[in-house]
Amino acid sequence: MEAVKAPRGTRDILGDESWKWAYVTGVCRDVADDYGYKEVHLPIFEHTELFCRGVGDTTDIVEKEMYTFTDKGGRSVTLRPELTASMVRSYIENEMSKGPQPAKLWGIGPMFRYERPQKGRYRQFVQLDIEALGAQDALVDLEVIDFSMELYRRLGLRNLQVVLNSVGCPKCRPVYRRVLQDFLSPRFDELCDTCKSRFDRNPLRILDCKSPICKEITEDAPAVTDCLCDECREHYERLNRGLEKIGASVVHDKRLVRGLDYYTKTAYEIQSGDLGAQNAVCGGGRYDNLAEAIGGPHVPGVGFASGIERVVLTMEAQGCSFGEKPESKVYVVAAEPSARLDAMALLRELRMNRISADMDYMGRSMKGQMKAAGAAAEYACIIGTSEIEKGVVTVKNLKEGAQEELTAEQLINKLK
Ligand code: AMP
Repeated sequence: MEAVKAPRGTRDILGDESWKWAYVTGVCRDVADDYGYKEVHLPIFEHTELFCRGVGDTTDIVEKEMYTFTDKGGRSVTLRPELTASMVRSYIENEMSKGPQPAKLWGIGPMFRYERPQKGRYRQFVQLDIEALGAQDALVDLEVIDFSMELYRRLGLRNLQVVLNSVGCPKCRPVYRRVLQDFLSPRFDELCDTCKSRFDRNPLRILDCKSPICKEITEDAPAVTDCLCDECREHYERLNRGLEKIGASVVHDKRLVRGLDYYTKTAYEIQSGDLGAQNAVCGGGRYDNLAEAIGGPHVPGVGFASGIERVVLTMEAQGCSFGEKPESKVYVVAAEPSARLDAMALLRELRMNRISADMDYMGRSMKGQMKAAGAAAEYACIIGTSEIEKGVVTVKNLKEGAQEELTAEQLINKLK
């Protein structure tokens, strides 16, 4: 019988990689603290309805990619494909509108989408998610974009580009939809089948179709930003002035659309030149009508989500530092089997003093233990009958080869 394997599109993140994840997560936490965002832990599954209404029935995520199942109580639940809808649900359910506004939240955890796996695209992946809820001001959009840029700056990423667009609002978007449909209708028959079906339901999505023919047809299409109402135009200009003020390099891309009624105004991505086809390290924007779409009051919001797998991949491609790889400082070596209990006692004392230390549990010879020490630690601390008699340990610096006898106290003071 073949041993059971992990499901397609999932990955085991093991020790040789997980320390990099801990580093990235630590930097996320630092930036969140500096920008005044509070961490939240939300459920990994929600009522399916939350995503149908909060992500949108006509999105690929809801149409094709959700892990939805009926639980034993007959309710339809879904493994979360993203965090924004849950964040907004939590804001409403916990009456965060009564607290300071905007409520600034962040979270990190696994998301689930039934996609075709490829490099940088998985069925279970980890997202960092930042949301500012309750404020209209374009300066909050600026803060969110700035947060993402600062995060990547601290991680050492280069060759990144802010790609920006506005998708208008329910007031001006219908005008743009008509302008776009008028532009596309002479060549309707040439559109791919998916885009034909999008033409009435969700024509903005035709702009981000990857098929070469649709790309060619939409090349000279009018941009949403040419049709914005006064409020959306003012918001977009204010954001652009802010981005200029903080020295962000921005390209405008009319193809960056979300295409659903509750996504409003700002849409943005940060793209990496080192990621290939899946080149977005983060995506975000404003969604002033999402809270209403899931049955709540009007709550404007803006945020971004960043895939940690892609951040780690980009950092590796660019040779960024992940800080110091955690390694044991000390390997305690028992010179004879009778000294193993004393070795264990020393090991415990080191650990209690926050010195990372390890020892052999496989009954290896002295030579075998020294070999293990060389592979795992900076110092070998040898303890045998003569050391026990003298109340010392023999401390060997494994890099330099120097050796000395120290009491446990001296050893701890030296290494701390
Ligand atoms: P989205 O929620 O689709 O706007 O995606 C936001 C970010 O999450 C992207 O920029 C990626 O970094 C990451 N992401 C989305 N889908 C996947 C996936 N299937 N596998 C890995 N990362 C993903």
